Amino acid sequence: MTGAGSDSFTMRERACPLCGQRSQTQWLEQKFDPAQLDGFAFASRKLPELMRFPLALCRECDLVYASQVPDLDWIRAGYRDAGFDAARESSLAAEAYARQLARGLPATMRRDSALDIGCGDGAFLRCLREMGFTEVTGIEPSEEPIRQAPPDIRNCIRNEFFGATRFPDASFDLVTCFQTLEHTESPLELCIEACRLLRPGGVLFVADHDFRALPARVLGAFSPIYDIEHLQLFSRRSLARLFDLAGFGDVQILPLRNSYPLTYWVKLFPLPRLIKMSMLSKLERSSIGQWRLSARMGNLTALGIRR
Ligand SMILES: [Zn+2]
Repeated sequence: MTGAGSDSFTMRERACPLCGQRSQTQWLEQKFDPAQLDGFAFASRKLPELMRFPLALCRECDLVYASQVPDLDWIRAGYRDAGFDAARESSLAAEAYARQLARGLPATMRRDSALDIGCGDGAFLRCLREMGFTEVTGIEPSEEPIRQAPPDIRNCIRNEFFGATRFPDASFDLVTCFQTLEHTESPLELCIEACRLLRPGGVLFVADHDFRALPARVLGAFSPIYDIEHLQLFSRRSLARLFDLAGFGDVQILPLRNSYPLTYWVKLFPLPRLIKMSMLSKLERSSIGQWRLSARMGNLTALGIRR
């Protein structure tokens, strides 16, 4: 198997990563066949495989989380070797995050340094420079997106998991983290660490899927948000709890409007695989496939200020 660690792994039990309690409420049963994993299993913006680990709901936190997962080494190996074929979507997503951030950032805040955790090919680092941040740093565990980053951005990216480097306390004005909190073993530890890295008054800005949003509710188990990459899924309530527990105040949680080409929406939509592949190959060859559709498809952003 490529891209997803080794064939052999053991499953372990996992408690709610926010409150540490074990939930008795099943959300979705496991649907996982390691033989079907490919090099894109841990890639961003991939063709959904509709596989998942068993998911539980913590009613206390309103968080859906994987209650049994493989050992951490297996998951990490999957990220290191993940493929990347989504530069165009990465750039469009970065523009959407930048628009939303620009609306929420305090006008007077200092803009010396910013850190983007899980930065992929660094598309958002360019946006940060355009917003006036002089020193930008990205962290990305997968090698392939970094290889595809433009040279002036590539040398701002560290190829490692967040936490491997100890940055000094209070060394950033802004920390961002997009579609990454779902993937990490402990989203609370990540946000507490982000809080430590921020100067007083510094801002944490994240984007995540909302499992309570209408598209996820309509598609149910067929929603692409239910995926082995996602160890937890947030709602407005769980995001607010996460920010509060990690030490952030003045939290703003808002739906995000994404703009993507039609081909990308088709890629995400639950259709039988052969029909989807045939539609995608036709759309890729036609200009219709490039038509941009803008919609609120169930992503949330949260912005909080270090208390
Ligand atoms: Zn909980």
